[in-house]
Amino acid sequence: MPTFRAPRGTRDLLPDERAALGRLMRLGADLAARYGYRPIETPLFEQAAVFERGVGEVTDIVEKELFRLAPRTEEAEAWALRPEPTAGIVRAYVQHGMQTLPQPVKLTTTGPMFRYDRPQAGRYRQFWQFDVEAIGDPGPAVDAEIVELGLRFYAEAGVSGVEVLLNSVGDPACRPAYTALLAAYYRGLAGLLPAAELDRLERNVLRLLDSKDPAMAALNAAAPRITDHLCEACAAHFASVRAHLDALGIAYRVEPGLVRGLDYYTRTAFEFYVSGREGQQQALGGGGRYDGLVELLGGRPTPAIGFGIGLDRTALALAEQGGAAPDDAAPVAVVVGADADDTVARLRVATLLRAAGLRARADLARRKLGRQLEAAGRDGAHFAVILGDGLADGQVQLRDLQAGTQRQVALDDLARELARAEASHRHG
Ligand code: AMP
Repeated sequence: MPTFRAPRGTRDLLPDERAALGRLMRLGADLAARYGYRPIETPLFEQAAVFERGVGEVTDIVEKELFRLAPRTEEAEAWALRPEPTAGIVRAYVQHGMQTLPQPVKLTTTGPMFRYDRPQAGRYRQFWQFDVEAIGDPGPAVDAEIVELGLRFYAEAGVSGVEVLLNSVGDPACRPAYTALLAAYYRGLAGLLPAAELDRLERNVLRLLDSKDPAMAALNAAAPRITDHLCEACAAHFASVRAHLDALGIAYRVEPGLVRGLDYYTRTAFEFYVSGREGQQQALGGGGRYDGLVELLGGRPTPAIGFGIGLDRTALALAEQGGAAPDDAAPVAVVVGADADDTVARLRVATLLRAAGLRARADLARRKLGRQLEAAGRDGAHFAVILGDGLADGQVQLRDLQAGTQRQVALDDLARELARAEASHRHG
C-alpha cells in the first residue's frame, strides 16, 4: 500500500482520462464561442455566503455538501470551495457592474467544482463542469437556444441517446400558492414521510419533489403538479419555450417533478439524461432560469438562465457507449542516431522539429541504433529520423516506420518533409 493516496471522492486523471476530459473541455469552449459566450474565470472559493444565498440554504449542496474552509484567525470571513459556478459568476457580474454592458451578458467557464458528497460511481467530491450563463435575457427564445446548445454538446461529444427533461417551476407570483398546496398534500401524508423529509416539509417543500429517498417516489408521483398551477405569464412563457424547441425539432419530455428545489429558480428548468437513466441521480447536466438570483446577490433585478454540464459523467457515458477516438499523442518522429553517445545531435535535431511545430521525441538513452529504433516503434511514431555519417554534410535518413521505406533528406528540408508526410498520412 502506498503511504499517500488521493483524497476520498477525488481521483487522479491519468493521461488517457485527462485527454478525454480535455477533449470535452475544448469542445465546450468551442461551442460556447460559436453561440456567442465569452470565457470568464472566477475564484475556486468564495465567501460562503455567496453560496448560502446564491444556491439556497435549504439545499443538499449547502446543508450537507459545502466544502467549508477552516477560518483563519486573522480573517473574519468564512470561505467555501465552489459547489457550482453560477453563484460566483453572478457575484462577479454584480461586482463589476456588468449590468451596464449591452444585455444579455453571455459568459462561459469550465473547471472543477467541489461537493462534500458521499462518493460513488459518477459522484465525486471534485468534478468538472462546462457551464454557460446568459444574464439579462428574459427569454423565452434564449431558453430554447440554451437547451439546444446543451444537446449539441452531447451530440458533438459523441454521446448518444441524450434526453431533455423540461419543466417550469413558476415564479414568485404563482409558486407560493402551489407550494402551499404541496405542503398541505404532504402534511396529509406526514405518517409516511421519512424524518429528513418531514423536516424539509416545513422549510422548503419543493425539495421533497427531488428527494433521493426511494420511499418518496410513489408519494411524489401523486403530488400536485406545478404545471397545473402556473400563472398566466409563466404558462405563456413555458408554452413559448416549448414552441421554440418544437420549431428547432428538439424532442423533450415535460417532467413536472423536476423542480431543482432552489428558491431563486424561476420558470424554465431542465436536465439532460442518457435515456433509461432518469431518476437515478445520474443527470449528465442541468440548468434553468434564475430570474431572482442577481437581485439576491445585490444587483438590480435581472433575468438570467444557464446550465452546468458534468464532464466526468459525460466522459463516463462516452466510455460506456464505446468511447471516442483517443487523442493522438504519439510523436510524429523519433530522432535516433548511430553514435549512441551523441545525445547533443539528437536533441538538436528534435529541437529543430519542435520549433517547427512538430511532435518529436529524441532518444536520449545511450543505446545501440537497433534498440533506439525498436523503442521508436513502440512509441507509435510514424517516422524515425536517423542521424549517421551524412550529418556532417547536413543529410539525415528519414525512415517511414510503418511502410518500412527509407530515404535521404537534407536537414534543412526535414521539418517541411515531415509536416507534408504527416499531413498526407492523416488525410490519406
Ligand atoms: P447540478 O448543479 O447538481 O444539477 O449539477 C450539474 C451537473 O454536474 C450534474 O448534472 C452532474 O452531471 C454534475 N455533477 C453534480 N454533482 C456531481 C458530483 N458530485 N460528481 C460528478 N458530477 C456531478
